[in-house]
Formats: sequence, structure tokens, C-alpha cells
Amino acid sequence: MQYIMALDQGTTSSRCMLFDLRGNIVSRAQMEFTQYYPQPGWVEHDPEEIFDSQYEVACQAMQNIGARGVEIAAIGISNQRETAVIWDRKTGECIYPAIVWQCRRTAAACEELKARGLEDFIRKRTGLVIDPYFSATKIRWILDHVPGAQERAERGELAFGTIDSYLIWRLSGGAAHLTDYTNAARTMLFNIHTLTWDDALLDLFSIPRAILPAVQPSSGLFAYSDPELFGRAVPICAAAGDQHAALFGQTCFVPGEVKNTYGTGAFMLMQTGGRPVESANGLLTTIAWGEGGRVDYALEGSVFIAGAVVQWLRDELGLISSASESEAWARKAPDSAGVYVVPAFTGLGAPYWDSAARGTITGLTRGVRREHIIRAALESIAYQTQDVLALMRREAGVEIPALRVDGGASANNFLMQFQADVSDIPVLRPASVETTAQGAAFLAGLACGVYSGREEIAALYRAPRRFIPHMDAQARDGLLAGWHRAVHAARTASIL
Ligand code: ADP
Repeated sequence: MQYIMALDQGTTSSRCMLFDLRGNIVSRAQMEFTQYYPQPGWVEHDPEEIFDSQYEVACQAMQNIGARGVEIAAIGISNQRETAVIWDRKTGECIYPAIVWQCRRTAAACEELKARGLEDFIRKRTGLVIDPYFSATKIRWILDHVPGAQERAERGELAFGTIDSYLIWRLSGGAAHLTDYTNAARTMLFNIHTLTWDDALLDLFSIPRAILPAVQPSSGLFAYSDPELFGRAVPICAAAGDQHAALFGQTCFVPGEVKNTYGTGAFMLMQTGGRPVESANGLLTTIAWGEGGRVDYALEGSVFIAGAVVQWLRDELGLISSASESEAWARKAPDSAGVYVVPAFTGLGAPYWDSAARGTITGLTRGVRREHIIRAALESIAYQTQDVLALMRREAGVEIPALRVDGGASANNFLMQFQADVSDIPVLRPASVETTAQGAAFLAGLACGVYSGREEIAALYRAPRRFIPHMDAQARDGLLAGWHRAVHAARTASIL
């Protein structure tokens, strides 16, 4: 056995990475698949295309290095979360396209749940806020809109799954209908304290228990792949939602350890150990993973617009021609000349939760140049991250030793240094920012005995690039006060 196969099923592409047993990537392949936008605010995927693209990249990654099925010790899956698929158990056909996590079609249904005062009821059980992101209202929508679906579901003819579940089912040739704790925790049907599907929630959404997968720890044997697929029945030994896998890949094993992924948006997760921390300010409480006979919990906060503000500079304003160019521009100015960009394009998330806020640029004077705007836009990513970090610090009441980073925009050295400065915390960037696939591979490797335990994995964490804070407290406080004034302007801008 020489490799662990990580299947990283993302929102816009399917990827496969083969890791050697020391945790190095030795082969990779990636393929985009179709995004369907049938109506404004709606997003769908074709589950068949997801599986086909995932299988295709797995074969490509093997071919690249001439790897054979007998050399693959295990498969680990990390996946886009919350996306809902329902299929017929007998024919395997999906009864409707996958409704993607981003899809807002159930916004009205969620408003109704809030109007009924169910926020506390749902948060207490699931750790989640009521939002169309999560699977429950998507399942309800499919069962309501596909003729006969509710009855078929009640008769046990249909199966629901998040993407991990669908992939496991397909990879096992229809033999296994399973999911893991992290994916279950994002459905809004799973009780994160009892680790079971919650009867009160199933009643609330009229979702028949018969459609749900069995739930198990993220690391452990799920099923064997159909021998036809890779020339051998390879054990599928891990499944976890992408952000959870990234937290594991970043080896955040000690309570207080935090990772932030700077992609289109930013996702911050903090390991809180065996203790689910309830948030009073809209952070989510979630399951970090189930591994080694126990469950760890995490706090999660997200920023809607992170790297996307750089895309906006490039595509809408034409101020830069590539995302990476933003770094050199930002360095042309010693500071942002008092300019703040608040990219509240779709409102603001934690800790403001203001969906009416709109994007704002403050502090413009006649001397403001292109580099100031670009710099201020990059700084906004760090300020928003700092707002979430400060909230986590407060709510979890633990010391945060460092911020571990990954995702596309973490390549920006200016941004990482500025983050260290405004958050007054060391920022650690691993040599490989493929932490999601890495986490899936680690979880699978633990289950199949390639690794002895978390200590061995923590030792594999490559010496990261460190960004050490060196801004003095007065300067930092001044900048943060300016940012908060700008946020205030963005929030009042919406009512003008
Ligand atoms: P996602 O997984 O959400 O698609 P990625 O992790 O691939 O995101 O990161 C892509 C995002 O990172 C884009 O929004 C892009 O603008 C931003 N980005 C990529 N490189 C840089 C860079 N050097 N500086 C700033 N932003 C960057």
C-alpha cells in the first residue's frame, strides 16, 4: 500500500489527490462541472455529473503516476456541505437535481420558521441558525414539489443524502447509505448533543426517518468501493464536510486552535474539544469530527465576501488584471490613506448579521489613488476576519495561540501580514494549502491504520510560513476604530 486517495468534492469542481503515506501530494486532478441557475437565487447541480466528474478525476490522478487499485490503502471524502440529493433506492435515479447550499429558494420557508419563534428550539438541538443554507428546508422543498415524493419517502423507497452520502452510495454500487457526523450536523435535522436524528425536528419538517442515512464517525470504515471502479474493493475510510476536513488537515487538535480559509468567502472554525460552545451572537456550533472514539466540537463563523472583493476589483472596477497583482499594488502605499472598503455586497454576517447593509467606501479625499483602494479592499478581508476572531475569543473564552490559514487568498503575503498585525496574533500558513484534501486523507489514514494517532499527524504538519505581528497597540486600535466607523456607515447606507 502506497497511497491514500482524497476525493475533494467542491462546489464548482471535483478534485482528487493521491497522498503518499507521509502526507505529501503525489498526484492530482481536477474537473469543473456545470452550475445551474434556473431562477435568480437558485443553484442546482446534477448529481450524476458530480459522481462522473469525481470518478473521472480519481482515474486521472491514478493514471498520472501509474497507481493501481491495490496500492491504494483507503479513500477519504471531503465535500461541499448541506447540498441535498434525493434518489430512488431501487433505480438509483435522482428524483430532482441537487439543491446546492447557496440556493436561496427556501428563504420564505425559513422566515416563516423564524416568525413562529423556532430559532431557539432549532439552535439548541442543531447548533445552527435558521437559514436556507442547511438541508432540511431543501429536502422539504423537493418532497413538496416532486409529485408523489412524500408518499414514496414514507414507504421507504427514497433516500436522502448530502454529497458525501451520495458519493458513498455510488462508490459502493448502492450497497451503503451512510453519512458522517459533520455532514449530518449541517442538515438541521441532527441533534449534535445526542448524535442522533432528532424526532422533534423530523416532525417539524415532516421528513420521514426512512429516507435518512445511518450516521457514523468521520473516520472509520464506511464501505468498500465497487471492485469494477478501481480494480479492487478499496475501503472508504473517511467522510467529512470540507471546512471540517480543513480544520483536521490544519491539525487543529487542541481547544482554541483556529483555522481560517480565505476563499470567495472566509470560513473560520475553532476547535472547542469535547465541549459544544453555544453562541449568543450568531456563530454556529458544529461537530468538528468524530474520530478515535470521541466527538470534537467547533465554533464556526463566516465572512460572505473575502477573496470575492479582489475579484470585484478585477472584474467590475478593472483596477487589477489578476488577483495576485493586488499584493504589489497594496505595497505601493504605506497605508490606505484613511480609506476603508466595506464589501457588504450581500449584507454582513457575524457579528453584525445585517442583511440590509450595503458596500461602502469611506474616507475618500482628492489624493486617494488606485493603490489605496486596492490596499483598503485587501485590508477589509483582514478586518472582517478580525471581527469574527474577536467574537470567537469572547464566546469560547479560550486563548487563541495562532491563526492557521489556507484558501486562495492566503497566498497574499501582504494580507497575511496585515492580518497578523490587526489581530495581534501569529498567522501560520502551511507549505501546502490543500488542507481539505489533506484532512480527508488524514482521517482515512487513521481509520485504516496508516497513522497511529493524532500525534503522528501533528508531527507531519509542515513547518509553516509564519507572519508575526509587529504593529503597536495604538496604531492597531486606531485602525480598528476606523473600520468600525466604516462598518457603521455601511449599515446606515442601506436606509438612505
Ligand atoms: P473558492 O474555493 O471559494 O473558489 P479559492 O480558495 O480557490 O476559493 O480562492 C479564490 C479566491 O481567492 C478568489 O476570490 C480570488 O480573488 C482570491 N485570490 C486568489 N489569489 C489571491 C491573491 N494572491 N491575493 C488576493 N486574493 C486572491
